[in-house]
Amino acid sequence: MSSIPHIPNWINGAYTTTPSPTLTVQNPATEEPIATITATDELTVQETITSSLTTFRTGSWPKADPTDRFTVLSTAARLLRARLPEFVDLETQQTGRPIREMSTQLARVPEWLEYFASLARVHEGRVTPFKGPVVNTLTRLPIGVVVQITPYNHPLLIAMKKIAAALAAGNVVIVKPSELAPVSVLKLGPLFKEAGLPDGTLQIVCGTGPETGRYLCEAAGIAKIDLTGGLGTYRAIAPIAARNMVPVTAELGGKAPVCLFPSLEVQRAVQASLFAGFIAAGQTCVTGSRLLVHRDLYAEFVPSLVERVKGLRVGDPMDSATQIGTVISRAAVERCASFVERAVRDGGRVLCGGKAVERTGFFFEPTVIEVAADSYLACNEVFGPVVALVRCESEEEIVDVANSTPFGLGASVWTNDFEQAHRVAGRIDAGIVWVNGHHLNDPSSPWGGFRESGMGKENGVEAYESYTRVKSTVINYGVAPVWFDQVANARYG
Ligand code: NAD
Repeated sequence: MSSIPHIPNWINGAYTTTPSPTLTVQNPATEEPIATITATDELTVQETITSSLTTFRTGSWPKADPTDRFTVLSTAARLLRARLPEFVDLETQQTGRPIREMSTQLARVPEWLEYFASLARVHEGRVTPFKGPVVNTLTRLPIGVVVQITPYNHPLLIAMKKIAAALAAGNVVIVKPSELAPVSVLKLGPLFKEAGLPDGTLQIVCGTGPETGRYLCEAAGIAKIDLTGGLGTYRAIAPIAARNMVPVTAELGGKAPVCLFPSLEVQRAVQASLFAGFIAAGQTCVTGSRLLVHRDLYAEFVPSLVERVKGLRVGDPMDSATQIGTVISRAAVERCASFVERAVRDGGRVLCGGKAVERTGFFFEPTVIEVAADSYLACNEVFGPVVALVRCESEEEIVDVANSTPFGLGASVWTNDFEQAHRVAGRIDAGIVWVNGHHLNDPSSPWGGFRESGMGKENGVEAYESYTRVKSTVINYGVAPVWFDQVANARYG
C-alpha cells in the first residue's frame, strides 16, 4: 500500500502538498490499489473557489486574445498526442477497459482540444438588424468559474470534452473527476501548464460526489455546473443549482435502442449489435442495450448473435487481444447480477452469459436476455454487459418501443432500405440518432439527450456557446433622446 503513488489535487498550477485525507483508487481487473487521491474537504473547496474567482476577475486567460487561447490549446493537443501511451496505460488500469479500446479512444481525444481551439479562433459575434441609426453588436464573453463533474466510464474523453470547450471560451475551470477513475485527469494539470495555460485557470479537485462534488456545486459565485453522470446525481445537484441560479448542463443515462430491420444482412446485424452493446462492457451512456429486432430477421439473427457473444474474449484489459474487460466495481457486478435475476423473474430467457466470471477482478459475462419490451431490463439502464433482446412485429412497433422509455439519448437504425432509414430516424425521439452506425462521435457534433437523458450539449458550437454569455451593445449614432421634448415621431424604444 505504501508503494502506490499519491496524486494530489492540482491547484493554482501545482500539485498541492497539504496533508489531507485520501481515497484509494483500485484497478478493477486486479482489485489492487493503484493510487491514492485527495478527499477534498469543504474548507479546501471554499479556498479553491475563492482563488478561482480571483483568477477569473484578474487573471489573463478570460481577457486573452483568441489567438493566444488557440495557441495554448493546440499546444496541449500536441503534448497530449505525444504522451498518449502513458495516458492509455493509466486509463486501462483505472477503468478495466481493454487496452485496444482505450488506445483507439484516446487517440482521438486531442481532437477536442484542436476543435475548440479552432472555434475560439474563428467564432464571430453578430450585428443584429436593429431598426434605425443604431448598431447592435452581440459579443460572447466567458461566463466565469465553471464546475465540471465527470464520471468514471470515459474519464479522459469526457473531461476533455468539457475542459476544452470551457477553456476555449475563456473560463476558469474546476473539474472533479470520478473518485473511481481520476488518475488520467489529474495528470492533465502539468500538461496544460507546459502548454502555457496560466496557473489557476484549470483546477483539478478530487473527492467523493456527495461530499467534494456537493461542496463545489453549493459554492457561491460559480457560473455553471456541467455534469455527466446518473439521474440521481442530477437530482441531488439540481435543487442547489436552482437555489443559486446556476445553469446546469446534464449528460445523463440512456437505454439506447438498436433498431434492426430485415433488409440488413444477418452478419451485419450481429456485428452492429456486438459493437453497440458490448463496447466498454456496456458502460457507455449510449450502450445499445436494447436490440429491437424485426420478426423477419429474428430467427436467423438470434443464434448467430449468441454464438458471437459466447466467443467474445473476456480477460486481462492490458492484453491487446482482450475484447471485454471489467465493470468498474464489485457493486457494478452485483448490479448486473440483480438485473439478470429480475429479468428471469419477469419471464426473460437468458441466451448466454448471466453471471459474474469466477476470477479475480470485476468481470461479468457478456449476456443476452430475451425479454418483453416493457420488462424492467428493457427499460432501465444496467451500465454493464447485459443486453435486452426484444422481438418486434413491425417497423411501427420498433419505433414505438424505441420511444417508450423515459430516456432519449442515443439510438441506432440499421437498414439497407433508404426510405426506411430516413422515416425511422425521423420518428425516433432521441438527441443522437445514428443510421447504420452506433457510438460515432466527433468534437463538431452536438452530443446530449432528451427527457431523462439530460439537457444541454457537449461538442460543437452549442457546447462552446453554452460556456459564453451574450453581451448586447447598442450603439446609437442618430436617435436623439427627445421623448420629453414634444417632438413629433419621437422614438421611445
Ligand atoms: P455518477 O452520477 O455516480 O457520478 C458522476 C460524477 O458525479 C462523479 O464525479 C461523482 O463523484 C459525482 N457525484 C455523485 N454524487 C454527487 C453529488 N451529490 N453532488 C455532486 N457530484 C456528485 O455516475 P457514474 O457512475 O460515474 O457514471 C455513470 C452514469 O453516467 C451513467 O448513468 C451513464 O449513462 C452516465 N453517463 C452519461 C454520459 C452522457 O454523455 N450522457 C456519458 C457517460 C456517462
